[in-house]
Amino acid sequence: MQQIRISGIPLHMPENTQSNAPMVTRFAPSPTGHLHIGGARTALFCWALARGQKSNNTQPAGRFMIRVEDTDQARSSDTATRAILVDLAWLGLNWDDGPTLQIDGRTIGGDDRNVGPYEQSRRLEHYNHYLNVLLEKGFAYPAFETPEELNEARKAALADKKAYKYERPDLTGDQLAQRIERMNKGEPCVIRFAVPDEDVCVHDEVLGDVRFADGQIEDFVIRKADGFPTYHFAVVVDDELMGVTHVLRGQEHLANTPKHVALQHALGFGTPTYAHLPLIMNPDGSKMSKRDKDKAVRDACKSGNVDSVPNDVSELDASTFAKWIDDKKSQLDLEVLVQLAGALKVQLPEINVEDFRASGYLPETVCNYLALLGWSPGNDIEKFDNTFLAEKFDLPRIGKTAARFDRAKLLAFNGDAITALPPEAFCARWAEWCDRYEPRITHEIDDASLSLLAQAVQPRCKTFRDAADQAAFLFFDDNAIVFDEKAVEKVLRKGEPKGMAVLAEFAVELEKLSTFDAEPIHDLIKSFSESRNMNMGKIAQPLRVAVTGTPVSPPIDLTLALLGRERTMTRINRTLDLPVATIA
Ligand code: GLU
Repeated sequence: MQQIRISGIPLHMPENTQSNAPMVTRFAPSPTGHLHIGGARTALFCWALARGQKSNNTQPAGRFMIRVEDTDQARSSDTATRAILVDLAWLGLNWDDGPTLQIDGRTIGGDDRNVGPYEQSRRLEHYNHYLNVLLEKGFAYPAFETPEELNEARKAALADKKAYKYERPDLTGDQLAQRIERMNKGEPCVIRFAVPDEDVCVHDEVLGDVRFADGQIEDFVIRKADGFPTYHFAVVVDDELMGVTHVLRGQEHLANTPKHVALQHALGFGTPTYAHLPLIMNPDGSKMSKRDKDKAVRDACKSGNVDSVPNDVSELDASTFAKWIDDKKSQLDLEVLVQLAGALKVQLPEINVEDFRASGYLPETVCNYLALLGWSPGNDIEKFDNTFLAEKFDLPRIGKTAARFDRAKLLAFNGDAITALPPEAFCARWAEWCDRYEPRITHEIDDASLSLLAQAVQPRCKTFRDAADQAAFLFFDDNAIVFDEKAVEKVLRKGEPKGMAVLAEFAVELEKLSTFDAEPIHDLIKSFSESRNMNMGKIAQPLRVAVTGTPVSPPIDLTLALLGRERTMTRINRTLDLPVATIA
């Protein structure tokens, strides 16, 4: 009688004999939400490695592939898949093989190599085939314990202060056959892999040889009770069938790799080249995660002594709020959190690619900055584009230790990149951003004014969001400007001559101006201040407070020109009517 094969699985590692097989890298997201910034760094490195492999006489060009790991049916969605593909396309990381995405009049992805489909949920027949191979060889077995039973066993081990490990049943070949029969009759079960009793050595291009001693890995589940393979199994089958040669992924997956290598050996598959990338952390060493958004708002509540739900946050009830405040690990529904952050005027930290896009970062800056998280081209080079990255990217220069995500540095990179854009390019790209995130700007402002506005805001913004914020004055109701009291005090009421008096005098001249454009406005401010022997700020600041309520605005001549004569005069006259003006 054949004993279930629990040890000594023969090591069988076929070399890739197809000499013209391309280098294939893959990014394999689980579609449970938008693309996390750490995932984007993985995708970027996979893309760069493949793109750096140019075709020549001896080898074809490298290929970058996307595989959608949606075996967790409850958490996966098509919406999330599309969102991730859109995020990748925005970053400029076009994939050769994978689900297709129609965007901006082009199609990305496809199945030229004929190894699809690329969604794991559509590949069950492949997994089932290899599950049967393992079952037939006695390298895997159905297991019938219920989740409750397993939980009990785990608790018992904990009570005994022992590490829990699933205990392999001692099965004869007949007993295995009986189990398979019960499974085939529909009895609920999982399939477990009989992990060979031997050390597994993973060679990693970043970390070197990592040895996992025999006995560390329990017989893990390879097919779940719902009939879907687990991540471990699907990834091994797919990497083989899809011709993946290089697996680049986060170090959090390192502990999974011996499982994958053991499965590859059992199935007679080759082992791809592995490179585990350093983790990306917050500057304080914590993990960069969705929870950071909750933390930012929770901290703001605490420091602002907010101990009840603000009035305008309709979706949040008092008890959920109280629990959330007390439990540091708890998370609010994102929509509710956004509402709460809005009410408290807290900026949520960006975590997903989409967050950075919405905050007005340029995709090329995001890629440039991400490339530096765990890799460097050497020679102190920091600023480069994706073409340079693809040319220079290599595995040996990937770092081993965690990288820190420095938001200030990213912001500085973005500010520099925005300033360096030719004005027309800035205007076009900002308009595209506005269409998506601040449509009133592109919908309510004509093209000529938009280009003037872009010219006004470009020099002082670090993100497209900054630029939009600077344009907010255009959307105020002329008769309801909210004045910054301090500015009114300092700019209009104090000084000699008083700002209010200067404003009143200037208003008379301004109204007479025949063409209300930036240049004549500028000339008028200049001659007005020169004739009174004062610097231009003496009139520019009162004008700013009058038309925006604050002492900050884009260049004053452009600000007034953009508002136009009527709106400017309405705002100035309203300011001149302020009761505060009469107080000496
Ligand atoms: N689906 C896995 C994840 O999102 C990918 C793991 C891998 O690259 O093997 O983390």
